[in-house]
This record gives sequence, structure tokens and C-alpha cells, in this order.
Amino acid sequence: MDDLTHFIGGEAYKGDDDRSGVVFNPSDGSILYHCAYASKTTLDHAADVAFSAGRAWANASQARRLEVIFRMRQLVVENTDKLADLIGRENGKTIADAKGEIGRALEAVEFATNAAQITKGEYSRNVGGGIDTFSIRQPVGIVGCIAPFNFPVMVPLMMTSMAIACGNAVILKPSERVPGASAFLGKLWREAGLPDGVWNAVNGDKEIVDAILRHPKIAAISFVGSTHVGEYIYRQGCANDKRVAAYTGGKNHMVVMPDADLESAASAFVSAAYGSSSQRCMAVSLLLAVGEGTAEKLRSLVVPKIQALHVGAYNDPKADFGAVITADAKRVVEQAIADGVAAGAELVLDGRGLVVPGLEDGFYAGPSLLDHVTVEMEFWKKEVFGPARGIMRLKDLDEAIEVTNAHEYGNGAVIFTRSGHAAHRFVTEVEAGMLGVNVPVPVPVGHHNFGGLRRSKFGDAHMFGPDAARFYTKMKTVSQRWPEPEQSASSSFSLAFP
Ligand code: NAD
Repeated sequence: MDDLTHFIGGEAYKGDDDRSGVVFNPSDGSILYHCAYASKTTLDHAADVAFSAGRAWANASQARRLEVIFRMRQLVVENTDKLADLIGRENGKTIADAKGEIGRALEAVEFATNAAQITKGEYSRNVGGGIDTFSIRQPVGIVGCIAPFNFPVMVPLMMTSMAIACGNAVILKPSERVPGASAFLGKLWREAGLPDGVWNAVNGDKEIVDAILRHPKIAAISFVGSTHVGEYIYRQGCANDKRVAAYTGGKNHMVVMPDADLESAASAFVSAAYGSSSQRCMAVSLLLAVGEGTAEKLRSLVVPKIQALHVGAYNDPKADFGAVITADAKRVVEQAIADGVAAGAELVLDGRGLVVPGLEDGFYAGPSLLDHVTVEMEFWKKEVFGPARGIMRLKDLDEAIEVTNAHEYGNGAVIFTRSGHAAHRFVTEVEAGMLGVNVPVPVPVGHHNFGGLRRSKFGDAHMFGPDAARFYTKMKTVSQRWPEPEQSASSSFSLAFP
């Protein structure tokens, strides 16, 4: 691929940028291309373009806006193979997994066609003295969308489709690790009939994110990424008077009660824990085995399943999962394993040092499993964004809930049980934004709200679902009276609070 440029005003845009970065193919470690990093001047240009295009788009009819969303949905379907290849090549996830990601992205695009329904206002007739009161929702203006590397198509589409359906213009800053899919999405939006300048993408790293956070023309920020960056973005964005929603890291606990269907729980654990080389914010990180003997039984079920996993290139049809995103990410995962073992965990399966024949320079981390993980260990405290997972042994449900709630993150948590009472206590008492009962990954469907609690989310909006439409619009409440001319002539008035 040629060097990648920004996408501004409906076309590839080469700025006067003097910085750039390298995009790798994690499957073989090769350099795919160089990517220019936007300067402040490039961002100013994108903001000017988005500002004028956005003003017209905000006044486009709802029918016109939704027509574009419907067409975009169709184009994503028709280009699934191309998008899946772009995802896999830059991110390392398998084609099957990339297609799953696109399927989830489509849910968000489809739900964005409900923008008109969600944002319609309320009306009260004759609240007093012939006055009617109604509310209207209008687009906020330009939305800055800052995306992570792990879902190169899904997260950008989740953020931008509802923002656009609500009448905003967007400036997307994709992850500098995987910018290729966003450039292609820009072309699809254009083909879908979106006016030039409503959807823009600028590439770069922290420097351009900081410029977005300060830019006076950008009204709202939607961020997905790690917690330490999300917290910074939330605080900086708010300090600059922007509306901010930041969806951040997770450490998702899977509680298995002794009465659960252990075979099904074991399969759920392996798929939810290792899929996408565990580079999902909703991946299961820890298996909490509750009660005497449960851990031993689960361990004997999960170990052979994990040993059977095949790790390979994104386009290897036999691969269950692929490489991690960078050589550094591989090193961080391997270090987390070493730290866990040094702290007293038992290394049941060691995936360190995995080499895939023929792809010796790829960033591969094999599946690892640690047992006897405890809350004192960094391995429990930190989000390990790679295929190293742990087993914890707990005596009862009380302790399992206590451990789950003791973690700083509250993105997702699941319980496997046959007890309605245990499940009810779990969903009532666990402080996580997305909960599951006998399901492995409780990411809700596109018409429900997505978002964590505690330090897995900053701000009170949700990324998709009805709440997203509220985030991307501002509300005005209007009180109006249309008196006859002779009624207007009345001169009586009072200074008392009406
Ligand atoms: P990251 O925080 O490193 O990067 C996310 C974005 O922020 C990128 O666009 C990056 O360029 C930018 N960025 C990075 N460092 C920055 C800094 N210091 N200042 C300003 N901007 C900066 O995250 P990542 O590694 O791309 O993605 C993985 C993380 O995202 C994991 O923690 C994962 O749990 C989280 N995630 C969360 C969700 C969710 O919905 N809660 C979804 C997907 C991923």
C-alpha cells in the first residue's frame, strides 16, 4: 500500500505534516506503509471543512440523513471481504474474527437509522396561559472521535454512524496502528452519498489528540481506549468545555458456581478469554472458580481446549487467533506472566516465546494460563491485553462478588450457574456496566446501551444504543405563546416568580 494520507473533505488529503509513523503487519512483522501524522494546520483545515459541511448537514432533512445511513450499511455488507482483510492485515486478528467485528459494526449502523425516533422531542400543550412547551434535540456540531487499535472498523463506525445520523460532522482519529480501514470507510461514506466534509479522518498520535482536545471548533469527544489515556482525555476535554464520553479498559471476571454446567462454562471461558488474542475490552480475563473442587474440574476441562488452539497469521484459515498488535505488546504480556509467576501463581500453560514457522518476525504470544491468582498480584490488578489468563479459587459467591467489585475496572462480568438466586444476586450486586448470566461475552446488541462502570468509563453516556443519540445531540426546551393581537395589548405584569 502507498503511504497513507488523511481523509478530509471527501478526499485523500496530504498536509504539510512533518511527522509520520510506521504501520506494521503483526502477522509477519513487516512494515506495511508509513503514515503521515497530522499537524495542527492539518487539523485546522479538517475543522474548517467539517464546520461548514456540518452546518449544511445539520439542516438536511431526516429522510436525507437516514438514506445515507441505509446506503452505508449496504456498502459495508458489500465490502465485508475487503474490510476484513484490512482489519486482519493491520491488527492481526483472523478473518473470521474480523468478519464478526464487521457484523457488530453493522448493528450500530443499523441502529443509527433510529436517530429520528430517539431524538424526537416532547410536547406539552397549554402548560399555562396559552403557553405550549416543547423540546428539540439538535446536533452538537463537530465530534472528535478517538479510536483504539483493537476494533479498526467497529469502533469508528459505532462512534460515527450515530453522530452523523444525528446531524453532526465528525473528525475521526483512528489508532495509528490501524489507520487503513478508516481511510477506506471514508470512501464508503462518500459513495453512500454523505456530503464531503461531514466525515473526516486525521492520522496521528498523542500530539494530534491534544490538538483535538483544545480545538475551539470541536464540541464533543468520543474516546475508546486504555484507562490512563481515557481519564486524561476526559479531564482535558471537560476542562476545555467539551462534552466527553470515554470508554476505557476492563478486567472482566467470569464466576463459575459449583452447580454450573461446567462443560459449557469451560468452552465459554476459552472462547471469551483467548479470542482476538485477548485484545478485547470485554474479553474474560479471570476464571473465578467457586467452591470445593470446582477449580480442579474446570482446569481439567479448559487446559486441553487451550492446548488445541492454533495461533497463526490473520489469513490462515486454521488459526483460532493471531498475533498481538506490536512487538512491545508481546513483551508486555510476557512480562505480566513472569510477574504473576514471581508473585506465586502457578504457570499451567506457558505461551511465551511462541514462534510460528515461516513467520518468525510476527508478534505472536501463545495462550498462557496461570492458576492460584490472588488479588495481591499485579497479574490480577492490571489489564493484560494479550493471551495470558488466570484462575482464582474462591470459597463462595460472597467472596466472588467481593473480588469482582474490588477491581478498579467494571466493564463486564459474567456468572455461570443454575441458581436463579445466585444470578439475581450477581446482577444486583456486581458493579459492572455489562453483565452476563450463562453467556460468555455480555456485549449488548446494538439497540441496547454499551458502557462500563467505575474506571471502565468516564462520563455518563453510552457508546451505542439509545443513549448515544442523546450524547450526540443537545436539548433545547421552548415555551411559546401565540396570543391574538388584542390579548397582547394587556399591560398588567408582576415581578413575582412566575
Ligand atoms: P490507547 O489508549 O493506547 O489508544 C487509544 C487512542 O488514544 C489511540 O487513538 C491513540 O493514538 C490515542 N493515545 C494513545 N496514547 C495517548 C496519549 N498519551 N494521549 C492522548 N492520546 C493518546 O488504547 P489502545 O492500545 O489503542 O486500545 C486498547 C485499550 O482500549 C484497552 O485498554 C482496551 O480495554 C480499551 N478498549 C476499551 C473499549 C471499551 O468499550 N471500553 C473498547 C475497545 C478497547
